[in-house]
Amino acid sequence: MHVPLNDVFKKLEGLGFEDIRHNYILEKDNASLIADEFGFEVTINEDYKDDLFPDVENEKLLKERPPVVTIMGHVDHGKTTILDYLRKSSIVDQEFGGITQHIGAFSVITPISKKKITFLDTPGHAAFLKMRERGAIITDIVILVVAADDSVMPQTIEAIKHAKKSGVPIIVAINKCDKHGVKIEKVLSDLSAQDIDIEDYGGETQTVKISGKTGLNMDKLEEAVITLSEMSDFKAEPTGIRADGWVIESEMIKGMGNVATVLVRRGSVKAGDFLVAGHTYCKVRGMKDEHGKPIKIAGPSTPVQIWGWKDLPESGDQLIQASNEQTCKRVTENRITRQKEIQASRDIESINQKRQDEIEESKRLDKINDLKLAGLDASVFLGEDKTQVQAVNVKYMIKSDVFGSAEAIKESIDGLGNEEVKSTVISHGAGAPTESDLDIAATLDATIFCFNVKVPKLIAARADREGIKIKEHNIIYRLIEDVTEELQSHLKPRI
Ligand code: GDP
Repeated sequence: MHVPLNDVFKKLEGLGFEDIRHNYILEKDNASLIADEFGFEVTINEDYKDDLFPDVENEKLLKERPPVVTIMGHVDHGKTTILDYLRKSSIVDQEFGGITQHIGAFSVITPISKKKITFLDTPGHAAFLKMRERGAIITDIVILVVAADDSVMPQTIEAIKHAKKSGVPIIVAINKCDKHGVKIEKVLSDLSAQDIDIEDYGGETQTVKISGKTGLNMDKLEEAVITLSEMSDFKAEPTGIRADGWVIESEMIKGMGNVATVLVRRGSVKAGDFLVAGHTYCKVRGMKDEHGKPIKIAGPSTPVQIWGWKDLPESGDQLIQASNEQTCKRVTENRITRQKEIQASRDIESINQKRQDEIEESKRLDKINDLKLAGLDASVFLGEDKTQVQAVNVKYMIKSDVFGSAEAIKESIDGLGNEEVKSTVISHGAGAPTESDLDIAATLDATIFCFNVKVPKLIAARADREGIKIKEHNIIYRLIEDVTEELQSHLKPRI
């Protein structure tokens, strides 16, 4: 509905709903009621009866669950450093190599209260935004990192905006407090100027002065998360309902096939279960945690790698347990058909639009001709059309190590530019560039970005021969800089 979540909360409260949370699941009747309140005309799509939906909340089965936390903040303020510190501190079982793999999320046990916290392992906003766009607010708490030596910066403000819009509470981590001469007072007043009601000024938002580098007060930061989650009373049904959750990342792994990292939200997933996510499904062949340790059962707020997928699901896809393989097949086939129908109707719309544009254009040309025939200067008439010059379209294809980062990159660069020049991502996916990628790049004059993947020698040689542009990157902001430079090079000099 494109309505801020807080407005929905207020409306629900006004209607007498109690104890509303951002992940509250509404039944058909209540959903209709609330949409109606916002002035939407509600139609119940009977097609959806062959789809899968999360079970309705069963209050009697609710149990406390660990909070799910995302770390956001300005570039270089220390998000990765903090995540690395937390990840290292999460190693409890040395048997499995002692290294925590990057699977998109991990859990820690807090040092003091011995409670569990789950962290999403993708620093930055792209993942958060992508999920939010799909209606998946999987984060319970945002840790907003602000470097004490730099204070509030543009991406800090952006993060605050996203968190507020999603109704997710913030804890502020003032980082780099190990440095000499840092001005914490300035950070506090800058935050307050952004409407963060910090506790230092009598508000409710906790602030913790930390160093991700030395570990200073990292335990306090974890306890702040626990305090906030106890206040917020995060709950889910661990058993007694069909499991559901979200796909965080997915990739093809040699010897394992299609693997997806999933964050279970409610219920429990175990080997042999059937799961549907997006356009694909899975009979769970096995599960591993972030330490590579096989696990048998994964309950609420647990991040887990699951293998056995027919195809790779996409990050942000909702995952729902199904009772058997037939249901999985039927639901995914329905979804694919429905998407094709939607696409077809969009195609028809765009063909119609194109036809309309052509008619308009021929009318315009006729008018110019008429003016010319009448011996009048058509340039005045043409002048008003100068702004409608077609933009230069710089095309990109993204190949990345994991699907999640390909998506994050697409989110960051697709549509950058202005009315003169803009970037378009024509495809994105996991894996090294292939012959057919080269064919497409050559036909459409696109640049292939390889992010954290090596270009096979044969492919590089052919690209070189045929003048197809392949660029390798392993730092997202460098890649973005590359795009903006390319776009700028297409701008006409301003006089
Ligand atoms: P990100 O872009 O937010 O993920 O930031 P990084 O974690 O990559 O950190 C950027 C730089 O700041 C790196 O050089 C880190 O070593 C440094 N850094 C991060 N945290 C701290 C800290 O607590 N103290 C100090 N002195 N440096 C830090």
